[in-house]
Amino acid sequence: MSSPLRVWRQWPAGLETVPAGALLERLGGPTLLHLSGAADPPVFLSVLLHGNETSGWDGLRRLIADTIGRGVPLPRSLIVFVGNVRAAAAGVRTLPEQNDFNRIWRGSAGVDGALANAVLTELDGRRLFAAVDLHNNTGQNPHYAVLTQLAPDNYGLAYLFDDQAVYIREPDTVMTRVFDGRCPAVTLELGPVGDPRCADRAYDFLSRMLTLDRIPPSDRARLRVYRTEARVHVPDDVAFSFAGDGLDTPLVLTGGLEAVNFHELPAGTEFAATVLPAARALDVRDVGHAPATGRYFESRGGRLVLREAVIPAMYTVDPAVVRQDCLCYFMTRMAPEALSG
Ligand SMILES: [Zn+2]
Repeated sequence: MSSPLRVWRQWPAGLETVPAGALLERLGGPTLLHLSGAADPPVFLSVLLHGNETSGWDGLRRLIADTIGRGVPLPRSLIVFVGNVRAAAAGVRTLPEQNDFNRIWRGSAGVDGALANAVLTELDGRRLFAAVDLHNNTGQNPHYAVLTQLAPDNYGLAYLFDDQAVYIREPDTVMTRVFDGRCPAVTLELGPVGDPRCADRAYDFLSRMLTLDRIPPSDRARLRVYRTEARVHVPDDVAFSFAGDGLDTPLVLTGGLEAVNFHELPAGTEFAATVLPAARALDVRDVGHAPATGRYFESRGGRLVLREAVIPAMYTVDPAVVRQDCLCYFMTRMAPEALSG
């Protein structure tokens, strides 16, 4: 079997002019690029783990056009992983026969597991300045950084991007978690797919980060960190729709909630209309994957209402994403004192 990963020791000439959808043709598959710069150790950067989330690639190639493209060295060495170029060619997050490229980084088997191993082997024994994984948000969410570990350098890296961050404790198969305890690491959710400001954010962040000698500390008083507490799924065998779709399904979700991502919903808020019992209509899982529907929802006369206040995030009204991933997460805000790391 040929290697699942192509490795370059330099930037392929002109690659900065290639849009995400044409990278498969140009590179032939997932690719790792070792780019030497004026300072070491390198930053590890991953883009296009999700094929339709192209803003990270667009921000990076603009930075390359400004530097390597003009014969100017990068301020710091960079190792770039260009991920799911096959999905990018199709303009989708993940192809039907593939695993999600941001769920393959621990204990994964098959071709995608072999790819993850090949990337991690290339990084074996390498000291890294930081690791950054660039994504676009699903649904109408603000841009923010994602932390997989509470540590001062991670707050600093997150704060370099924005004053909002989300701390996630699962799943443990995401790329950023590979770097827990090894180097400062964040995932950046740059904003919605298709919003041109997202590539600007990637470009600005990378430009600033690559010139740093060290990660500056965050302003603890201003960095807002939310912690995910639960994931909300619609069971596979429950037909659903969103209010306003005009469909007669056993579960009708209040689609307008997308507008309230990152805003607190008080106890008593209606979340859905359904003839089903709460535990049948929605499958809420806590961070240990234990059922938690009864903690968050109760049925009241054909409505599902919240039993306690929650802050939703990543709520999506895209039925395909609901089926592939989840409907949303529930978060709480962490007290600044809890961030002592
Ligand atoms: Zn993504």
